Amino acid sequence: MKVEVLHVGMVMTNCYILTNEETKETALIDPGDEADRLLACCRGRRLSAVLLTHGHFDHILAVPELRRETGVRVYAPAAEAALLADSEENLSGPWQGRPVSLTADISVQDGEEFTLLGTKVRMLLTPGHTAGSCCYYLPEEGWLFSGDTLFCESYGRVDLPTAMPAQIGRSVRQLLALPPETKVFPGHGGSTDIAHEREKNPLAHGWKEEDAK
Ligand SMILES: [Zn+2]
Repeated sequence: MKVEVLHVGMVMTNCYILTNEETKETALIDPGDEADRLLACCRGRRLSAVLLTHGHFDHILAVPELRRETGVRVYAPAAEAALLADSEENLSGPWQGRPVSLTADISVQDGEEFTLLGTKVRMLLTPGHTAGSCCYYLPEEGWLFSGDTLFCESYGRVDLPTAMPAQIGRSVRQLLALPPETKVFPGHGGSTDIAHEREKNPLAHGWKEEDAK
């Protein structure tokens, strides 16, 4: 499995491109803008899925065009359905003047596992940044796509619609219980790993190894 990143849109969102190099099947995580560029990147591959970590405009703006052009199926947390559908709350209207209202093709529940590109994906619901924010964990690759929940030595803001400030610490500490070598690919900024975040993340206090057992 190969992972690439493109920085898209006005807030430089990390859009991750996962590709099974044998089958050339591809999935995009958080296609936040610049559908043309993403489509160009996928040329010669078969785009089979879009995964959304949450509903904010800077993670979803390219979805309507990707759907129109490719018919790609969209996975999103069931708990984020309302925000995805509401162009005011997902800020695509007020902040971008490009209102987007989305309904997922596949609504995913907390802890649900599915197979994508021949590998296992587990959805971990991590409310805080938004009420229905999630992360996607690929245990066979040792990768976590952490959206705007966990950043390198930081975490997502909790002052936007549906945010749950009291929940973000618990969500981040839940992620810290993953294997320490797990590579973390956040929605913004550089990648990190779980061992580093156990040491350096401001929300790691209160996290104990015993909690992982
Ligand atoms: Zn966000």
